[in-house]
Amino acid sequence: MTAATTSGPVLVINSGSSSLKYQLVTPGTGEVLASGTVERIGEPTGSVSHRSNGRRADSEQPIPDHGDALNVLRQQFDEHGPDLETAGIAAVGHRVVHGGPTFSDPVLIDDEVIQQIDDLSALAPLHNPAAVAGIKAARDRFSEVPHVAVFDTAFFATLPREAYTYAIPGELAEKYRIRRYGFHGTSHAYVSQQAADFLGRDYADLNQIVMHLGNGCSASAVRGGVAVEASMGLTPLQGLVMGTRSGDVDPGLHTFLHAELGLTFGQVDTLLNKQSGLKGLAGVNDFRELEALRQGGQDSAQLAFDVYVHRIKHYLGAYLALLGGLDVLVFTAGVGEHNPALRAAVLDGLSGLGMELDSAANEQRSGDIRVISSDSSKTSVLVVPTNEELAIARQTMELVA
Ligand code: ADP
Repeated sequence: MTAATTSGPVLVINSGSSSLKYQLVTPGTGEVLASGTVERIGEPTGSVSHRSNGRRADSEQPIPDHGDALNVLRQQFDEHGPDLETAGIAAVGHRVVHGGPTFSDPVLIDDEVIQQIDDLSALAPLHNPAAVAGIKAARDRFSEVPHVAVFDTAFFATLPREAYTYAIPGELAEKYRIRRYGFHGTSHAYVSQQAADFLGRDYADLNQIVMHLGNGCSASAVRGGVAVEASMGLTPLQGLVMGTRSGDVDPGLHTFLHAELGLTFGQVDTLLNKQSGLKGLAGVNDFRELEALRQGGQDSAQLAFDVYVHRIKHYLGAYLALLGGLDVLVFTAGVGEHNPALRAAVLDGLSGLGMELDSAANEQRSGDIRVISSDSSKTSVLVVPTNEELAIARQTMELVA
């Protein structure tokens, strides 16, 4: 049994199809009491990594399903701490990728909500069933505390219809809920709010563009705290070039690959989601490895870098036109936070549009939120570390409290 308190930490759970990530975090201070990953669920040997008290414990064991993953999670806390009983978990917050048209805010989970998340599985066949499995298992094992679902799509529920509508037959789109949803919303919301707070400005007064550049990459335009554009679409495949995802391609490519190579839709899906992006262009999906190859003079790595930058500029320009002016440009996530060369390449030649980099500030390594534009830059360019777990914990507590 775990005693529930309203001031205790939140257990944040992110369930994927074969992995489960977790973090025990104090919403107020952001202190991380423990974190971990359970990987290779459903394979003969699963792996577990748990971090707490400045130590890391790794182990391997079979983890047939998400129920077992939750058992392993509890076992990690029992063996390596902190003691969940003493910690007094206030709630469990679940990251759910697709809220479809149903969910535009975090929601307290009950049986009906689980069914609704499951009903959206057609829109996110890889993600929502895994979230449902994780939620069911977690509710079973943490039955004394409230569980909250926080949706990756929620921040983009405000997109105007001209932004979210695909130019396909309207009836079809309506019947099958085909539209642009946008993803990574928790991160886009968190960093854009952080940027406003850091600058001492009212969130509602700022036009912002956010570039979330991690393994998955997405751009958003935020007018006065309200999302008005998102680069990801019906699925998280659209938009920017990513680690293994192509981002935008001509939709005719599917037919071409089918006609010329006999590829099935499933094979095309795998090709575009898992074998494309940086990996498809240069053979590696990790940006650090790409940079090493590029520094070593590998031309395909240089091309991958250039295509990645070109696409970002493409969206930056489009969103600038939509917003009609830009106060803040934010770089976030692994690549956005840590790669000065990428940021410099994106901002190269944009002084005429009011964006000017301070090269020394851009080069400086730091884990803190910071300005990297020059004093004369009209647009403030910021690096803002994202923290989706903390954002989920805070939204969970807001709802529970
Ligand atoms: P995810 O989308 O899985 O959360 P991250 O936000 O952690 O991914 O981003 C992963 C990407 O960020 C990888 O391409 C990685 O190379 C890059 N990255 C992470 N840390 C650094 C770093 N310190 N320096 C350069 N690149 C980094």
